[in-house]
Amino acid sequence: MSDRFVYETDVVIVGAGNAAMCAAISAQENGTKVMVLEKAPETEKGGNTTFTHGSIRFAYNGVEDLKQIMPDLTTEEIDSADFGTYTEEEFFDDMCRVTNYRTDPELASLLTNKSFETMQWLQSHKVRFIPIYGRQAFKINGVFKFWGGMIVETVGGGPGLVDSLHEEAKRLGVKVLFNAIATDLIHDDEGMQGVIFKHEGKTTEVRAKSVILASGGFHANQEMRTRYLGTKWDLAHARGSRYNTGEGIQMALNIGAMPFGNWSGAHAVGGDRYLPDFSEGFQKLSYPFGIMVNAEGKRFVDEGADFRNYTYAKYGKLILEQPDQFAWQIFDQKVSHLLREEYKFRQVTKVKANTLEELAEKLDGVDADAFLQEIKAYNAAIRSDIPFNPNIKDGRCTEGLSVRKSNWANTIDEGPFEAYAVTCGITFTFGGLRINNQSEVQDLMLQSIPGLYAAGELVGGLFYFNYPGGAGLMAGSVFGKIAGENAAHFVKSQDEQSLRSSLSEN
Ligand SMILES: Cc1cc2nc3c(=O)[nH]c(=O)nc-3n(C[C@H](O)[C@H](O)[C@H](O)COP(=O)(O)OP(=O)(O)OC[C@H]3O[C@@H](n4cnc5c(N)ncnc54)[C@H](O)[C@@H]3O)c2cc1C
Repeated sequence: MSDRFVYETDVVIVGAGNAAMCAAISAQENGTKVMVLEKAPETEKGGNTTFTHGSIRFAYNGVEDLKQIMPDLTTEEIDSADFGTYTEEEFFDDMCRVTNYRTDPELASLLTNKSFETMQWLQSHKVRFIPIYGRQAFKINGVFKFWGGMIVETVGGGPGLVDSLHEEAKRLGVKVLFNAIATDLIHDDEGMQGVIFKHEGKTTEVRAKSVILASGGFHANQEMRTRYLGTKWDLAHARGSRYNTGEGIQMALNIGAMPFGNWSGAHAVGGDRYLPDFSEGFQKLSYPFGIMVNAEGKRFVDEGADFRNYTYAKYGKLILEQPDQFAWQIFDQKVSHLLREEYKFRQVTKVKANTLEELAEKLDGVDADAFLQEIKAYNAAIRSDIPFNPNIKDGRCTEGLSVRKSNWANTIDEGPFEAYAVTCGITFTFGGLRINNQSEVQDLMLQSIPGLYAAGELVGGLFYFNYPGGAGLMAGSVFGKIAGENAAHFVKSQDEQSLRSSLSEN
């Protein structure tokens, strides 16, 4: 046996993003000693979670519920906003609808039914939330009207969420080891015994009765992307964390865990064509107010099929399928004030022109004549008798085109015109491990692997084809909290069992 360094703890958690840190807080507050292994250095802690805006989707029944989540909301803020409601049923329906009814009903029920109490739990652990005025509401007649079932974000966005969770975990006594890459699970017929990891280059072990995997999916691994998502996915831009390369999933599969969910599917959006991988400010999500054309000058998708946060996660794949994997987003003067903040960043691939003819010449890689014909046909097909309203699905559509636009269709005829070159950027993968309603990882016989739990992106079965914005963080928190509680109970029951057997032996 080697003389490798060995740590001991009750519960070991792999990863230090949202799901992992919720699991850590939950296991520690349930009376166990917790150690977290994080592959990244401390300066890059938090995985994909750090790259989010902290937008989180949960069910609520009106302002009284929201006041519990955001106790700092002022009367003025409440009076100047129409937050509406978003019931558990609506959240569940959204999960079913956007996944073409493939979401696992048991996991989706847990996610939606436990979303509000999990928000209360996060709030009790000092995570602070504020309304998303900028991106999820437009001001009409002095009132912010929220839409799309997602109305709050964490203070300080993703980095704010990660800092709050890490500070709380530290306060409770959780130990986090950075530069620690988990490579193998230590496992026998009795269940989990710990994790082998490389810490600052040295093979090390942590012995524990319970292990929680929360190390994200494999979007940053080109080989796994190509293997599971298919050809061209190696060519996609990778967003978010460079560290989510699939080891957590692989380690569990190696000991007989059951794969589950949409292994050929991923959350992938449209964003700047030329930004390097893992850069900030990639996505370009105001397409519902304009059109997208490919190299042939043709539209290829219903840009206004639904609110942006119900379509953005599936449209990246469609862009990847276009010739040379790019598209241009086109807007005219009438809607340019509605473009999101990311369109104003310095590093954007943008062209501007006073006439459509001039614009057509500037669209790199696009058949200019075909583009002009496409715009002409599009402008002629719009039901301009229906009023434009960005706050609702306004039904202002096109008629008679082979690719319909269902809402927010405006003629593109007032210069100056703006166009943005986009490609596909993968955010996270949908396939992963199978868990039950206790977050216990299932084996190939659909039995729980004693002591092994999972939460977050590496759990399969929730998202298929598409995803409702804000559900990733909620899923990590709901299943992380459950995993932490159950891992702690498991350790305690094992300890009690060993105590009983040693007493009976004596
Ligand atoms: C740009 C961007 C914006 C997003 N915006 C939102 C949003 O606003 N709202 C929302 O709900 N979702 C959003 N998402 C999705 C969201 O980030 C994820 O669903 C969620 O953060 C996943 O949490 P997680 O804890 O499972 O994984 P992560 O937060 O990615 O954490 C996984 C951690 O595991 C670590 N790790 C990986 N392998 C190992 C290993 N072998 N050993 C040790 N550690 C390992 C990683 O370094 C990482 O820290 C966004 C994603 C991106 C990329």
